[in-house]
Amino acid sequence: MKNIFTTALLFLLFVGPSIAEPLMSPTSYSKDLYKESILDGNYLSTIENPSKFLDFNYGERVASPAQISSAILSWSKQSNRLKVVEYAKSHEGRPLYAIFISSPENIANLESIKLNINKLSDARNLNDRDAKSLINSLPAVAWMAYSIHGNETSGADAALGIIYHLIASKDPEVTNMLSNMVIVIDPMMNPDGRDRFAKSLEQFRGTSPNYDDQSLLHTGDWPYGRTNHYYFDLNRDWLYLTQPETRGRVALINEWRPQILVDGHEMGAQDTFMTGPPREPINKNIDKNLIKWGNKFANDQANEFDKRGWRFYTGEWHEDLYPGYSFYVQFRGTLGILYEQSRMSEDGVRRPEGTIQSYKEAVHHQYISTLANLKTLQRNSYQMYLDYWDGRKLNVSKNGKYANQTFVILPTDNHGRLNALVSKLEAQDVEIYRNTKVLTVQSALKQTGELVEDFIIPKGSLIIPNRQPEAPLIAAILEFDADIDESVLLEERQANLRDGSSIMYDTTAFNFTMMFGLSAVTVPENLSNNLESWTPFPSSIEINEDAVMWAVNAEDDRSVAFAARLMEKNINVRIIDKDAVLSSHALSRGSVAVLAMDNLNHKDLIDDIREIATDLDISLVSIESGFGTKELPDWGGRHFLLLQKPQIAILSHADFSSYDVGVTWWSIDQYLGIRHSQLNSSMAEYADLRRYNTIVMPSGYADLNGSKKEALMTWVAQGGTLIAHNRSSRLIASSKDFGNVKLLQNTFENSLDYNFDLLKEMAASENTINKAKTLAHGINLDINYPWESSNTQMSEKELQNRDKWQSIFMPSGSMVAGRVDQKHWLSFGTPSTLPILYANFPILMTHDKTEAVVRIGELISNDGIKDFRMINWSSIPPGKDLNVRMSGLVWPEAAQRIANSAYLTRERIGRGQIILFAGEPNFRGSTRGTNRLWLNALIYGAGLGASAKINL
Ligand SMILES: [Zn+2]
Repeated sequence: MKNIFTTALLFLLFVGPSIAEPLMSPTSYSKDLYKESILDGNYLSTIENPSKFLDFNYGERVASPAQISSAILSWSKQSNRLKVVEYAKSHEGRPLYAIFISSPENIANLESIKLNINKLSDARNLNDRDAKSLINSLPAVAWMAYSIHGNETSGADAALGIIYHLIASKDPEVTNMLSNMVIVIDPMMNPDGRDRFAKSLEQFRGTSPNYDDQSLLHTGDWPYGRTNHYYFDLNRDWLYLTQPETRGRVALINEWRPQILVDGHEMGAQDTFMTGPPREPINKNIDKNLIKWGNKFANDQANEFDKRGWRFYTGEWHEDLYPGYSFYVQFRGTLGILYEQSRMSEDGVRRPEGTIQSYKEAVHHQYISTLANLKTLQRNSYQMYLDYWDGRKLNVSKNGKYANQTFVILPTDNHGRLNALVSKLEAQDVEIYRNTKVLTVQSALKQTGELVEDFIIPKGSLIIPNRQPEAPLIAAILEFDADIDESVLLEERQANLRDGSSIMYDTTAFNFTMMFGLSAVTVPENLSNNLESWTPFPSSIEINEDAVMWAVNAEDDRSVAFAARLMEKNINVRIIDKDAVLSSHALSRGSVAVLAMDNLNHKDLIDDIREIATDLDISLVSIESGFGTKELPDWGGRHFLLLQKPQIAILSHADFSSYDVGVTWWSIDQYLGIRHSQLNSSMAEYADLRRYNTIVMPSGYADLNGSKKEALMTWVAQGGTLIAHNRSSRLIASSKDFGNVKLLQNTFENSLDYNFDLLKEMAASENTINKAKTLAHGINLDINYPWESSNTQMSEKELQNRDKWQSIFMPSGSMVAGRVDQKHWLSFGTPSTLPILYANFPILMTHDKTEAVVRIGELISNDGIKDFRMINWSSIPPGKDLNVRMSGLVWPEAAQRIANSAYLTRERIGRGQIILFAGEPNFRGSTRGTNRLWLNALIYGAGLGASAKINL
């Protein structure tokens, strides 16, 4: 079989050309567009020119990752001016390199240079005199990194030229520079994305050049080359550190603490060139000196552009509030410089003025910018080190901005999640402690903004005093709110109102504890007594082979993976859906139990349990008796629910958000490691959906009409669990007959019914009752009926008008408080108040048999309030108040609009169910709080919310 195939292929290759008609030669060639030479130095003949590694002339086209790697490896053998460090491997196995370039003497001395930079960075162990003598001995250190977005290609091509120029040049200007500088080049930060894009160039290239920026050659195709293998935007991962590319890169950058970090990108094809410094909002934790230096660098770079007649700009859309870009380095004292070159993939792009900007010129822009920035650093390195030293002193000073503030994460049994957070903090050199005694502090700020007097910090909390070397970064990622100037708020509001635009480029909330859904407080003092260094929680796997069952606690997120991995091995697994105590082990509701009696025919049951618990590093207990005292669950009763093995498909492709598809896919691979399929959604109506019992619809614009909708609805009714996110939830909720969850704007007609059910739900969660009043013999005429008690009930027209106005102000990534139904199976392992990252999501409304598992707004007690009060369609009962905003910008109008709406809904349809998330629960792989709700839906849904299929 193999031989026949090979023979056929050879035959085709051999005779192919003589049969095919020759293609017509083009009337013009793009190589003639730009006559300037990028590499204009005097070069050593012993170093191979970049074009030697390419099948085109350097700078004219996109070099593939393999070509760039091969040049780097060859040069490392040809020159003693560089050292190549492989700092990571991508998911697809491609190497990521940092190339250290300097004089041979410095290259031999890199370790001691690095040591001295680190000495200078901890002002607790160094005096001014020693610091100055260190600074005198230090070379400048520059970090130049490119093409983190794989389809923004010109940066990496410039880097290839820069490496060659620096290692091959005979000019004294260059050799002098190298004796005073260590230049680190990270030529391509996202090789998997670049490779995907380079491949699409091969696919869409014709014979003639193409100057149309709308053509597939320039745009690429879904899922595009911007992101990495799992469609993650690596330029939003510098703090969350979910991807191997970022983890390796950040570890190396943090070891080196460079003075500048250049991040070379591309932007819209019809734009020009943009560089730093940014405009407001600028994160208040950035050292003002860096802003001063940013202007200096921009000035020198601008001169180089002016000389050549190249247009450029600074500021405009470039703001600096969100700390999770490459600019996280600014919080550690490094100047971040952004390049944004207009994007074209090859040939060039025709502009409105009739000219063509060529790809080679784009490469040249990045190349000249790089050289300009290196020269500015060479001239100013000494003064920048002095400023850096000042900043480092301030970070640990008793009188500094960060001196009297401590962040505290309260104890949790969710060790998996806490350990994950700790590893991210440690990657940023944050010093972390645990209190060995209960501490009482005068006051503490809660995540909901409430200042509590005489707060008690339980023993074993995670303590981070802000006064330490990385103080600004700690504040940036742990303070509950990033300070925004009033003038910025005003400008944003005007932009919203004028044309619906925004001056905020990313989310306005990003603090780690809310992202992770962990309870925390900020204490306005420096805690330093009764602390020991933090150590991660070890797991304890206690296996008695004669036990009747083995269990893991629901509090730990990894319990879901434990269940999923066992089921994949066809082991029967149960959920205990109520808090239990068995053989003196306390197990919270949602804990996972494997019963010996359920698995009599499974060989190696104990070995499989042990192996899975060990892989997950999760604690496991053995239970000798299935008897729970009093009302506590017993193993034969209705609280031991049998799970169904999930068989999962993700709907995917062109109509879906690649980010949400990617993070859905990654979340299964990252947290669960179980089999699943991505389906091209265009075949949803032809595919045999019976193979799956769980289908995820990531956020998207997929067409939900006709036979596709029919197929999905039938599948749900027959027992399927359909889980949808954000825009897909919007499609389902706006679809007439696809379940009963509705969009807010379609409910004004019968808003009273929705409020009725909401109040019923609130009343059901009341924890007190007045016995005497309840059992009185006389008729009570003072009962409050909410719809009668409020004289501010709004008409349909008023509700519509309000909604139109309020929808102008929807947030673009802020934290709001989620109110969690503590009795629902979807909320296992989730506290009653959950921070939710919220943006312009569909506003979901439930009524009758549709369940709202999480609603927006934390209900708090306020005895001062005596009446029912209306917020649009809903009312808050007397004695209650509602907190919505937790962090970031949530306009009061938006808070009103989303208050009491559902974030997570669940509805039974036939034998199956529909679960809707208003948002994207796995956003950037970092919203761990909402991720848990999603894992519950994905793994437990088929067993707990749909009818079991019995195989006869
Ligand atoms: Zn970019």
